[in-house]
Amino acid sequence: MKIEEIITKQKLAFQDGVTRSFEARKSNLEKLRALVSENEDALCNAMNRDFGRPLFESYVTDINTVLQEIDFHLKNLQDWMEPEPVATPMISFPSKSVMYKQPFGAVLVISAWNYPVYLSFMPLIGAISAGNTVVLKPSEMVPETSGLMNVLVQKYFDDEVLCVVEGGVDETTELLHQLFDKIFFTGSTRVGKIVMKAAAEQLIPVLLELGGKSPAIVHHDADIDVSAKRIWWGKTINAGQTCVAPDFVAVHESVHDEFIEKSRKILAEFYRDDYKPGENYAKILNESHFERLQGLLDQSEILFGGITRKENLFIEPTIIKANWDDEIMKEEIFGPLLPVLTYSGSDSLIEMLRNKPSPLALYLFTKDPEFEERIIHEVPFGGGCVNETIQHLGNLNLPFGGVGNSGMGAYHGRHSFDAFSRNQAVMKKAFWPDPEFRYPPYDEKVKTWFKRIFS
Ligand code: NAD
Repeated sequence: MKIEEIITKQKLAFQDGVTRSFEARKSNLEKLRALVSENEDALCNAMNRDFGRPLFESYVTDINTVLQEIDFHLKNLQDWMEPEPVATPMISFPSKSVMYKQPFGAVLVISAWNYPVYLSFMPLIGAISAGNTVVLKPSEMVPETSGLMNVLVQKYFDDEVLCVVEGGVDETTELLHQLFDKIFFTGSTRVGKIVMKAAAEQLIPVLLELGGKSPAIVHHDADIDVSAKRIWWGKTINAGQTCVAPDFVAVHESVHDEFIEKSRKILAEFYRDDYKPGENYAKILNESHFERLQGLLDQSEILFGGITRKENLFIEPTIIKANWDDEIMKEEIFGPLLPVLTYSGSDSLIEMLRNKPSPLALYLFTKDPEFEERIIHEVPFGGGCVNETIQHLGNLNLPFGGVGNSGMGAYHGRHSFDAFSRNQAVMKKAFWPDPEFRYPPYDEKVKTWFKRIFS
């Protein structure tokens, strides 16, 4: 079916209320749950064929998370859908004011390649839970997974409710010319700008989940062993090809050597059976990403690591000695290279961080509550953790999203429902009372007592 026909069909279905009722939303969430749970092995195997990610890692990041999110929506949806009463000012007495949670209509979800099931289905859950129809455009970089999601969606859903459109730039460009009611995009900042420009042409609201350089900060009072372990855990998942991976580490100069030494030991422990790309460690997506990372390595001072094998797209977790203005500090790395910089004073660190585009995540390792407060309030970032990496995404009560260059809007849990609903504001009155003084012609007496009562 042509893209235009799909959208016309979905818009008609939305107008007919096919996705609106609580029962319809619940049934769609249950269908998605069945799709994922009945095909979890096939989905993990597809991701493994696409970029060699270990099966267990895919289960944890892309299957379990999606199932948890669906269950959270199923449990809370009825409450979230309830119209929300709000107070009414005296000037409108007597009346009631209510916000109705309305779906946008036909929405478009465009996703990135690196967590292909998670990044497609997490926004989808919010969209169907809020009562929308959805066109999902997964990434062409992971054809096995995108193809399988397409087949499965056709098996479990009517295309008037949910439809997958596979393809790359051409197909996405065509989709961006359609009159959707909302666009949810996950991907790079560069493409995020293209999406937002296209959406602006038709005044379509957008939610952008983008990338950036997420810092980890290791303060002099941190437990260096635990900090290094948690930073490397966050950096080695998916071989660093994670939007919220620690991109670089700023280490207090007094603990720099200890951090490097602990890192060496921890990686030797994590991968004591050696790196087996595709089994215990993900491959780099493709040759062009491999060459980009190799290029960064070639111009860097390697403190340890640095082994690469193009034939099986392997890049070893590597620590690089870096300065704030080095090439590797300019763009998101999106791979297992970890530049380490040092700082001495908190003021200079905060200034350096503020001079960079606002990141999607920030990870702070410290026991000092004052330093913690300063970083939280003085450095803008989308979300993050103190003494941990990445796990803030696992708390469905927390919104997940970026700021500035790392995106706009947020989702997960209730925030996903809200992201795909709009508050329709309604004030309700009876026909009586209907005092004449509120209508023209106005006179000075009315003005005097109006000011007395309402000003
Ligand atoms: P990408 O921006 O290259 O592609 C994302 C999507 O946009 C894909 O579906 C692709 O087909 C489409 N696309 C690519 N070029 C386009 C164009 N010129 N016009 C229209 N559509 C186009 O991103 P990617 O390589 O798939 O993913 C990596 C990036 O995504 C990283 O920057 C990463 O940080 C970011 N990311 C962000 C999150 C988040 O939740 N914030 C999650 C994962 C990845």
